[in-house]
Amino acid sequence: MLATPIIEYLKNNFFSTLPCTFRANFYYKMADKNTTAGFDTICLHGGHRTESNKAHLTPIYASSTYVFDSAEESAAVFKGEEQGYIYGRWGNPTIAEAEEKIALLEAYGIDDAAGNALQLKAILHASGMAAIATAFLGNLKAGEKMISHQSLYGGTHEIIEKIMPDYGINHLLIDFHNTDGVEAAIKADATIRLMHIETPANPTLQCFDLKTLSALGKKYGLTVVVDNTFATPYLQQPFRYDVDYVVHSTTKYLNGHGTAIGGVLVGKDLDRMNKALTKTHRLLGGNSNAFDAFLLTNGLRTLSLRMDRHCSNAEKVAQFLDGHKAVAVVNYLGLTSHPGYAVAKQQMKHAGGMISFELKGGFDAGVKFLNNMQLCKNAVSLGTCDTIVTHAASTTHLGVPREQRLKAGITDGLIRMSVGLENIEDILRDLEHAMA
Ligand SMILES: *Cc1c(COP(=O)(O)O)cnc(C)c1O
Repeated sequence: MLATPIIEYLKNNFFSTLPCTFRANFYYKMADKNTTAGFDTICLHGGHRTESNKAHLTPIYASSTYVFDSAEESAAVFKGEEQGYIYGRWGNPTIAEAEEKIALLEAYGIDDAAGNALQLKAILHASGMAAIATAFLGNLKAGEKMISHQSLYGGTHEIIEKIMPDYGINHLLIDFHNTDGVEAAIKADATIRLMHIETPANPTLQCFDLKTLSALGKKYGLTVVVDNTFATPYLQQPFRYDVDYVVHSTTKYLNGHGTAIGGVLVGKDLDRMNKALTKTHRLLGGNSNAFDAFLLTNGLRTLSLRMDRHCSNAEKVAQFLDGHKAVAVVNYLGLTSHPGYAVAKQQMKHAGGMISFELKGGFDAGVKFLNNMQLCKNAVSLGTCDTIVTHAASTTHLGVPREQRLKAGITDGLIRMSVGLENIEDILRDLEHAMA
């Protein structure tokens, strides 16, 4: 006995890789009434569709292509008149679940201008950088410029400085804390068409005012993109401030377990998402794959639980470092001494799980510290269940010229710490030992 043909499944489940929108709110039926699910429930069930074999979890669809029952059907699916999957680079049911879950989480509790639940579309990519490349190249043309700030993720800084200028897209990296300066810069150059904001930003946890900057971008008709990797939608929802796109490296907190590289581009202009951005994504070839999407979906199921623990552990680590005699500076958005404290309090639910700090002994002390750690891992990346410690100057920001790096506060001995879910006593003991 054959299982239900896949095309039946697709029809029944009403999903297409062609123009489609995601339900903005996740409902379940309760006494015949639609009831909006909470954030944690969406983490678990959002985007899930009944599978033809009734597997509890959406399987890893390892198929590069999809079969049509007739020539008429393939033509109709290609034209977008019928729902259906076509080819793996364009989409896949395992990928679709992760995409829809993330779109639902970013839109959670937000209304659009007309007072309806906000509708978003998410496109999963092979990496955060692929999602960022789609956001930039899908929205900018040769002769246009983008505006952003210093202290960006190293790869973002490099694509802006080293790749885009070759295609005629230039940039201005300025101080986004000085909003008058940002406005003057935009006013002075009509070719600026896109504003990119990373907040909190690598690795000094600079925090930029989303409400003010987005309003400024909108005033001059710019496309506003926010990298929400450090905060996740659990702590911060940029679409509350009317931004156009959110990007994530899903490699980090969204996956949460360090098992797959991935990125996502989320947008609210569904027509643009379904046409221009889908075209850029498909033709640049930065598609995700079913296995990585499966791992991502599995990680997303515990997002809120993990974030709560990341946050409470980070708070304790920051307090510990703040009072330590070997530490010169602690950058943590939950400390009142951080210049971004007030803005973070306004736009984030909690200061998050990321900390960076400077040891009094500079570069040498930093190296010794890393080599002394017993429990926490010396590695790049962040947002995994376990604690990861990174020396920015010699790793993530190696490609950024030293003088630019210093201007962004990334000193030679700066240590970035992604605080994990271990027992806090064990993390603190390891820190104490490594600094002794
Ligand atoms: C890691 C990271 C990226 C790049 O993501 P990849 O998945 O490594 O391509 C972009 N932005 C931020 C803030 C990051 O931390």
